Amino acid sequence: MTCYDVQKDSVMQTRTEALYRLSRSKFRSSFHLNEQDRKYVREKGMDTIRAHAYDFVRTRLAPAWPDNDGKQTPMKGHPVFKAQHACACCCRGCLEKWYKVRKGTELTELQQEKIVNLLMAWIEEEMKARP
Ligand SMILES: [Zn+2]
Repeated sequence: MTCYDVQKDSVMQTRTEALYRLSRSKFRSSFHLNEQDRKYVREKGMDTIRAHAYDFVRTRLAPAWPDNDGKQTPMKGHPVFKAQHACACCCRGCLEKWYKVRKGTELTELQQEKIVNLLMAWIEEEMKARP
């Protein structure tokens, strides 16, 4: 943690810490990839899934005032959507509550990257749990 600037970086915890906190939330830990999601991930490959994650984060989460904020992330239909709910990166309200990312400010490149890394770490765990 010492090499992290906790105050300035908004998605501030290390990934491990974030995943640990999330695992203690009954709601967040209720999300899992199902067989169809895992099949999709296997077929597309991690790089493509990461590209999708970037796309969703950039278009649906990064703007200062995203369209439909609070309802922009479906509960299913793409493994990344589930990861977003599981990781509390589904809307700006959840980002603010969990990671102290202020609403009404555009997410920086670094913040977007950290969110994507967190989502991908969660997906990797899910794939490991039941390949
Ligand atoms: Zn949310």
